[in-house]
Amino acid sequence: DLTIGVLALQGDVREHLLALAELGVLARPVRRPEELDSVHALVVPGGESTTMSKLAVDFGLLEPVRERIAAGMPAYGSCAGMIMLGTTVLDGRPDQRTFGGIDMVVRRNAFGRQVDSFETDVVLDGIEGHAFRTVFIRAPWAEEVGPQVEVLGRIEGGPADGRIVAVRQGRVMATAFHPEVTGDLRVHEAFVDLARGVLIGSADE
Ligand code: GLN
Repeated sequence: DLTIGVLALQGDVREHLLALAELGVLARPVRRPEELDSVHALVVPGGESTTMSKLAVDFGLLEPVRERIAAGMPAYGSCAGMIMLGTTVLDGRPDQRTFGGIDMVVRRNAFGRQVDSFETDVVLDGIEGHAFRTVFIRAPWAEEVGPQVEVLGRIEGGPADGRIVAVRQGRVMATAFHPEVTGDLRVHEAFVDLARGVLIGSADE
């Protein structure tokens, strides 16, 4: 059975576990390298990327997660999780590390310090139906993306017009917003489909 892990070092782990459970998927917290071994895919939650980076190093998870992602494990990150899946972090701490997976430069707290959180509608490529009501909380954006990165969503209008807030590269997806807090499960659904595809693909081989 498809089992999806939620990196449980820090952040809104519970919300992601609940979203996945609501979709009928087996979901487990991942805090130790052994727990990572037993999942097919990984969600990296929102929270605080500097803390998450530090804890990932302390818990011996940084390299194992990096390696699994490089080897093709599907991963999805929201907000701080998006930062963790990038290659380079702007406005981060000098010793801040990431898991990689998406060739992008991510700017932390990109929307400005005065804007702690805001909501807007974002249309996501490949996700059917109405626009997403998105919640951005001290959110990043992708400032630059590599040629293999598919841009799934941008801010429309306002001072951040055109900024990239949802991306995918192969089996790795990221959003700058938090679909786990709005009850709209379509992003998680898309990720579960992606993860399921990999599982079925490997069983066929
Ligand atoms: N500002 C946080 C960071 O830099 C991200 C905020 C969030 O995940 N809600 O990691």
